[in-house]
Amino acid sequence: MTLISPNAPTAELQALDAAHHMHPFTHSADLAKKGARVITRAEGVWLNDSEGERILDGMAGLWCVNIGYGRKELAAAAARQMEELPYYNTFFQTTHVPAIQLSARLAELAPGNLNHVFYASSGSEANDTNIRLARTYWAEKGAPERKVIISRWNAYHGSSVGSGSLGGMKGMHAQGGMPIPDIHHIDQPDWWSEGGDMTPEEFGLERARQLEQAIEEIGPEKVAAFIAEPVQGAGGVIVPPETYWPEIQRIVKKYGILLIADEVICGFGRTGNWFGSQTMGITPDIMTIAKGLSSGYQPIGGSILSDEVAEVIAGTEFNHGYTYSGHPVACAVALENLRILDEEGVVKQVAEETGPYLKEKFEGLAAHPLVGEAKIVGFMGSLALTPDKASRAPFAADAGTVGYICRERCFANNLVMRHVGDRMIISPPLVMSKEEIDTLIDRAWTSLDECHARLK
Ligand code: PLP
Repeated sequence: MTLISPNAPTAELQALDAAHHMHPFTHSADLAKKGARVITRAEGVWLNDSEGERILDGMAGLWCVNIGYGRKELAAAAARQMEELPYYNTFFQTTHVPAIQLSARLAELAPGNLNHVFYASSGSEANDTNIRLARTYWAEKGAPERKVIISRWNAYHGSSVGSGSLGGMKGMHAQGGMPIPDIHHIDQPDWWSEGGDMTPEEFGLERARQLEQAIEEIGPEKVAAFIAEPVQGAGGVIVPPETYWPEIQRIVKKYGILLIADEVICGFGRTGNWFGSQTMGITPDIMTIAKGLSSGYQPIGGSILSDEVAEVIAGTEFNHGYTYSGHPVACAVALENLRILDEEGVVKQVAEETGPYLKEKFEGLAAHPLVGEAKIVGFMGSLALTPDKASRAPFAADAGTVGYICRERCFANNLVMRHVGDRMIISPPLVMSKEEIDTLIDRAWTSLDECHARLK
């Protein structure tokens, strides 16, 4: 076996990458022309690349490295567990200690009566589980016709066929036969782009009431659940108006449908509470978790069910599961991650110290001529770029281009920020210090300036 050396020249690594590695959500032929940046190691909130550059990670990897990179305790937890019991399944009347401990800990942390965990290896798998759970729940309750799950356009719930159908990304639906039947989408609560002349409060109510209209049109006897992220992440960090969630909660209660909160991004401290549902004041029946559960150190996700939902599902054999559901190494690493988030006061820090500091600095970016609105909750924020702040106008045609230029400038300035259309978004590791926040804001401002200069 001959492997390329990790110290090979960047161009050689890039060429081999382009020859054999297909990247997710990527136009491979375009990437092959310029070559992917080769990330070699990481520490705290900093990435290193093969050219010796140090890059500030404003996205916590892919919204997941909540405790930052390089925590040896997690590596040690993985090594210990691999030596003790590297794998066993929980299908056939067996269990193991890491799954028992993690489930009990999650039941403690999750709000209300969310006390029962079904594991997956990712958010996508967990949302696929949720489709089956919601429909099985109603079938067991004698209402098998309740199958429809209502979601929102521009939501992101994963990339498998089920979770991608739940999501409202039209570009995804256009490839591979999605959505599957009985998924219905309503509009998102994005006041900046879609609010027109309404106040944010009026608009929040209008968008929430689309749920009621959809339920009435479909027929309440056919609707199983409504799924939403407390704050949309991959859609562009869309912070809903304050009127939105209370009205949604009223509607799901009125019709008795299940509320599924997708906490894959919002969970584990990102919004300044353990869960985004707490920040938004909602009471879900099922929560999707992944990402920050292990800070991305191991692939693990899951669904946390309320006592009521779990009790109904417990009445039948639920014919569903993944080889790696409750993987012992992933559970052990997640437990250690939760210990650190808790004992080092990381979630509290986001709520009380660095979160408010980041908010003040990030909102200051709204003074930049390109930025119409800067919105942030905890450690997830978004800048809406516009040529005209007063009218909230989008840039002409080629939507996404200005955001793309800005994102390229950030990357050139050694800052990872992502763009979604003409929004620039951040989701830093929750351990980012005030000094590092200052660096993030400085680099973002410089990159915005450079982007602005290109547009003139
Ligand atoms: N749900 C939300 C809200 C997400 O942001 C994501 C991923 O970004 C997913 C689900 C899918 O998770 P995964 O990529 O682990 O399958």
